[in-house]
Amino acid sequence: MPCDLHVHTSASDGTENPAEVVEKAGKAGLTALAVTDHDTIRGVAPALEAGREIGITVLPGVELAAEEEDGEVHLLGYLFDPHHPLLREELARLEKARLARVERMVEKIRALGIPLALERVLALAGEGTVGRPHVARALVEIGAVGSVAEAFARYLERHGPAYVPRLKMAPEEAVLLIRRAGGVAVLAHPGLSRCEELIPRLVSAGLQGLEVYHPEHTPQMVEHYRGLCRRYGLLATGGSDYHGAGHRRYSRLGEVTAPDEVVEKMLALAGRTA
Ligand code: AMP
Ligand code: FE
Ligand code: FE
Ligand code: ZN
Repeated sequence: MPCDLHVHTSASDGTENPAEVVEKAGKAGLTALAVTDHDTIRGVAPALEAGREIGITVLPGVELAAEEEDGEVHLLGYLFDPHHPLLREELARLEKARLARVERMVEKIRALGIPLALERVLALAGEGTVGRPHVARALVEIGAVGSVAEAFARYLERHGPAYVPRLKMAPEEAVLLIRRAGGVAVLAHPGLSRCEELIPRLVSAGLQGLEVYHPEHTPQMVEHYRGLCRRYGLLATGGSDYHGAGHRRYSRLGEVTAPDEVVEKMLALAGRTA
């Protein structure tokens, strides 16, 4: 039975709230789903509750963005203790830094002569963690660009005129944080980050899995990462990276899944039973 272990909600840059996403997962015939919002676990409690009502397994998750010399690497954490003090403290710090970063990006955009309102960007983020996608949507709204993709290409991509670097967190630190909070640490979409040399380093830091199955991974990549999982004794996980039905790329919940047994293995690694 299929499980989708990479899903965003309105708690970050997904467009549907956690209960809606869980309901969709039930209708799509998924047996388990992990909510993995960017730098926040606000969506976890409502998703767990919806899961209990609907009768599908919901795993607590998070997708942490870490910085590497020449790019960004994402780490997925699963089955951590959502009340762990260190985790909560770090997430609060990341959330604050996200807000400050968006404020600076909006200033840069305004300095370019575009009358973008910070209030509107924050309103689009709503309860969720704010980020570049919300800046992009606000730019579309005021007609400064024709699409979110154009907003990124013209202003928001790394080295773009409105780009501001994020709070630096090393990938190893992200792995340690997840492990300390009792979670399972998985490297997200390695095919997107091109961070091969990082894998042995992260394994030493406590990495337990690779996201082998992802919409952007070619069959060759899947084969390659399956091989690395065997070599390093890592779990092969996967998911759709769903961001909502209207998203340009990640709009199909369950488009990519992982087998049920992965969830059982994760539960065993986290020292829990379903
Ligand atoms: P942030 O976390 O604020 O740096 O925003 C990163 C998020 O923006 C990613 O997780 C994607 O969802 C989205 N994103 C990144 N690049 C693009 C792009 N070129 N077009 C549309 N969305 C993008
Ligand atoms: Fe995203
Ligand atoms: Fe990601
Ligand atoms: Zn994601």
